[in-house]
Amino acid sequence: AGARGQEEQIGFYDRDADHALARQISMEAELREAVERGEFVNFYQPKIDLKTGKLAGAEALVRWRHPQRGLLQPTEFVPVLERSGLVTQVGRNVMQQAMEDWRAWHDAGLKPPQIAVNVAPAQFRCDSLFDDIERALNTAEAHLKPLSIEVTESSLVSDQRRVVDILNRVRELEVPVAIDDFGTGYSSLAYLVTLPVDVLKIDRSFVVKMTQDANYMGMVQTIVSLAHNLELKVVAEGIETEEEAKFLKLLRCEQGQGYLYGRPLPAEEFGKLLGRGTATRVDTGPTVDTGA
Ligand code: C2E
Ligand code: MG
Ligand code: MG
Ligand code: MG
Repeated sequence: AGARGQEEQIGFYDRDADHALARQISMEAELREAVERGEFVNFYQPKIDLKTGKLAGAEALVRWRHPQRGLLQPTEFVPVLERSGLVTQVGRNVMQQAMEDWRAWHDAGLKPPQIAVNVAPAQFRCDSLFDDIERALNTAEAHLKPLSIEVTESSLVSDQRRVVDILNRVRELEVPVAIDDFGTGYSSLAYLVTLPVDVLKIDRSFVVKMTQDANYMGMVQTIVSLAHNLELKVVAEGIETEEEAKFLKLLRCEQGQGYLYGRPLPAEEFGKLLGRGTATRVDTGPTVDTGA
């Protein structure tokens, strides 16, 4: 009976794995069509200068307008894009779209801020990354520094020489580089400090726990000091409460991003925010001065 039970279990697991694999394959096929049909759109979330409260930047975040399932969040499809290699093409389009939107806002006299685009590890393995960045930049007014990039530690650990070389060239274009989700990766600090980057972006998981747990508060404090000692700027992501904002300001963290200041918005809505000169939370929260 023991052996039979085992067999059944194995059978069960195999079927499960089959299903998972089948789901991924069908999603890949769907994503391929979505790329061709142009179903991806950029949303933009404000980044705030914590000292002045003014708009300091925005992050482009991709969404999938699925014909049947509506608007899908990146957690539902970015991992499949990464596994299938499609992220290279989608990421290139997100960057190009960001600079076209920046250009349209600029031409409308709206003073758009610098826009950060996420660059996936696979894009670093693709020969066209630097050219893609240069092309996108030339769509906008390159001298107004319209673009920055965000990379995760996982991009930085493999083929270090090559990645460092690309980052150096990107920074020569005056496109700042941020390490995203800082603190969640496994790369060594010794290695991270030698990287050609400009900004550390503290992961949301630290910010969430910071005001509840002294250990996390200590870690955030340590990350900010580390960054400042290395002459890097710090952005905290996922700020949802005034209390979190207050502590981050005390620590001299330069910028903040989170629902407290604004959720990711469709390009049109973000343009309206720029036009109003201020962004107000849905409830009667603080206003964001866009400097317009
Ligand atoms: P990320 O780059 O760390 O982006 C920040 C994520 O945190 C965004 O989720 C944003 O909506 C969310 N967020 C910001 N403030 C708050 C807050 O106060 N509370 C909470 N609960 N969440 C907040 P989103 O848009 O779902 O994106 C998730 C991840 O998907 C991104 O994390 C990024 O890793 C990836 N992603 C998004 N767009 C792209 C893209 O164009 N290319 C690539 N390669 N990855 C992307
Ligand atoms: Mg990011
Ligand atoms: Mg992040
Ligand atoms: Mg994060």
